[in-house]
Amino acid sequence: MMSDSIAFIDLAAQRRRIGSRMDEAILRVVNHGGYIMGPEVKQFEADLSAFCGAKHVISCANGTDALALVLMAKSVKPGQAILCPSFTFAATAEVVAWLGAVPIFVDCLPETFNMDPASLEFGINTARQLGLKPVGVIPVDLFGQPADYDAIEAICAREDLWILCDAAQSFGASYRGRKLGTIGTATSTSFFPAKPLGCYGDGGAVFTNDDELAAIMRSLRVHGQGSDKYDNVRIGMNGRLDTMQAAVLIEKLKIFPDEIAARDRVAKRYNEMLGDVVAVPVVAEGNASVWAQYTMRVPNRDALAAALKAKGIPTAVYYPKPLHQQTAYSKFPCAGNGVPVSERLAGEVLSLPMHPYLEESVQDRIITAVREALGAGARSQAAE
Ligand SMILES: *Cc1c(COP(=O)(O)O)cnc(C)c1O
Repeated sequence: MMSDSIAFIDLAAQRRRIGSRMDEAILRVVNHGGYIMGPEVKQFEADLSAFCGAKHVISCANGTDALALVLMAKSVKPGQAILCPSFTFAATAEVVAWLGAVPIFVDCLPETFNMDPASLEFGINTARQLGLKPVGVIPVDLFGQPADYDAIEAICAREDLWILCDAAQSFGASYRGRKLGTIGTATSTSFFPAKPLGCYGDGGAVFTNDDELAAIMRSLRVHGQGSDKYDNVRIGMNGRLDTMQAAVLIEKLKIFPDEIAARDRVAKRYNEMLGDVVAVPVVAEGNASVWAQYTMRVPNRDALAAALKAKGIPTAVYYPKPLHQQTAYSKFPCAGNGVPVSERLAGEVLSLPMHPYLEESVQDRIITAVREALGAGARSQAAE
């Protein structure tokens, strides 16, 4: 790696911080040999529960299985509709289709990138017009910011729909003082390495306060086993979290609050120094984001990305194509009046490097490059 090249996400910097503790934790697992459902798995679930306040934590193999465990426990089946955003990662809708149900794509709000409650209402009507039974909603906390749960909960209570929060990008965040993991019927998250809390491979978890749902998901996670492990009482999956990943995550969770604070400092500084030249991300009143991504809206997105690349600054586009326009998902319906905001955002979003170890000098290089590319002067001049 070039000495002055900038990382989009710098996992090596974190590794330098916790390297020896991490090596010891991994070696402990190698030595005790309980690779599957070893003691670290139980420990990590207890740590997560203490961290977010969820009564039950079911760790699992990845964030996609986490979503699937909830849908399977809810007996999602053909003839049913689940409402989810179009402007998200494919896994959100994928699990709905796995079970033969129909994902109905809902639009998002341009400021927060999250589910538009008005579009959700349209989507519920669309489901009924198509002869489908709407049973649940999967709001996504995109880029680390919680969706507008008060509004979504009010609609779901009235329509008798369950809520599965896809917190793959937002674990550690909070909505009006409520931590992710305690909102909705259940919450899923991912520990994919690039997520705010990432492991050294794949991992995920489900959170719920519902005793019965938790018991079903624990059974589903291990092939639907009953009290006798050779008596399978339902069709399940192999969805366990590796002990090795649990050991990694126990160490990472210890520094997670500190890392969240560091991410927030980077985001605030970007906002302050770029807010006059570009549409910087907006965190809604009462929300705390964990900044899985720092995503701006720029009309000339591709030109800006190219200018930054020429200066050694990596950027990313999440997401260039909303799900309803993708080959595998274009056959599924959109909420009544379409999802125009999702379509527009796909052409405008651009994410800057974001991680807890992004030094101020590097932030300054990025900020200066963005301002120059957009034809603006330094922030102090612009402010005068
Ligand atoms: C990453 C992600 C997932 C899937 O998590 P995996 O661990 O990669 O399976 C699901 N939903 C969203 C919104 C994600 O960003």
